[in-house]
Amino acid sequence: ASFDVSCRAVKLESGAGVLLCFQDVTHLEQAGQMRRDFVANVSHELRTPLTALLGFIETLQGPAREDAGARDRFLTIMQTEATRMERLVGDLLSLSRVEAEERVRPTEPVDLPGLLRSVLNGLAPLAAEAGVTLRPEFPETRLEVPADPDQLRQVVMNLVENAVKYSGRGASVTVRLSGPGYQPRLRVEGVEIAVTDTGPGFDPMHIPRLTERFYRVDNHRSREMGGTGLGLAIVKHIVNRHRGRLRIESEPGRGSSFCVILPLRA
Ligand code: ADP
Repeated sequence: ASFDVSCRAVKLESGAGVLLCFQDVTHLEQAGQMRRDFVANVSHELRTPLTALLGFIETLQGPAREDAGARDRFLTIMQTEATRMERLVGDLLSLSRVEAEERVRPTEPVDLPGLLRSVLNGLAPLAAEAGVTLRPEFPETRLEVPADPDQLRQVVMNLVENAVKYSGRGASVTVRLSGPGYQPRLRVEGVEIAVTDTGPGFDPMHIPRLTERFYRVDNHRSREMGGTGLGLAIVKHIVNRHRGRLRIESEPGRGSSFCVILPLRA
C-alpha cells in the first residue's frame, strides 16, 4: 500500500498541535502503473509490424528492386502486417469507445435469436474455411433483452470468432441460449448465451487473467491467427456495461466455454 502524508500545524484549546493526514493512494498508483503498462504494450504491438514494414520497404527499394517474385512475396507479407496494425487500431478504438460509455446502461430491446442467427450467418464463410462446424442450438422464438445492438453483436462475434480460430479443423462450435421460455430454462433473472467449442482448451489457471488487455495463453498462436489480444477485454467491458456477467470454463484437450449472462430487464 502507498500513502500520501501531509502535515499541518493547528491551534488547539490546549495549545499548538500538529495534524497528520494519511491518504491511501494505492489505487491511484495502481491505475497509473496500469496506464503505463498499457501504453508500453500498445507501443510494442504497433512497433513489431511497423519494423517489418520498414524492413521490407528498404529491401524493395534496394536488393529486391528488379526481382518480381520477391516483390510479390514481400507485398503479401506487408499487407498482412498492415492489416494487423489496422485491426489493432480498430480494437483500441472499440475499447476506448466502450470504456467511455460504460456508465450509460443500454436500453434498446434486442432480439437475441435474431442477433445470434445473423452473427452465425456472417461467420459461416470463416468457419467453412477453418473446417469448423457451427451449431446453433436455440429456438426461433423472439427473446428480447435491453442492450446496445452493435456492442452485443461484437461480443458474440468475438467469442464465436475466437472459438473458430483456436479450435481448428474438425472441431465444432455450439451456440446456445437459455432463459425464460427456452430449454434448458436455467435462470429466471437473466438470459445466458453460451459459446462452447471442442477445441484444445487451456489450463483454467489462465481464466482470471484472460480478459486483461494483451493477455494471451499462447502468444505465438494468437499472433499467427492475427489476434490483437484485446478481444476478450472488449467483451468484458461490454458485458459490464450491460450489467451482465462473463463465465469462462476450459479443460485442456476437451474445449472451452464462454458464457455471457445478461439481465432480462433494465
Ligand atoms: P486474441 O486476439 O489473442 O484472440 P482475445 O482477448 O480474444 O485475444 O483472447 C485472449 C486469449 O485467450 C487468446 O490469445 C487465446 O490464447 C485465448 N482464447 C480465447 N478464446 C479461446 C478459445 N475458444 N479456445 C482457446 N483459447 C482461447
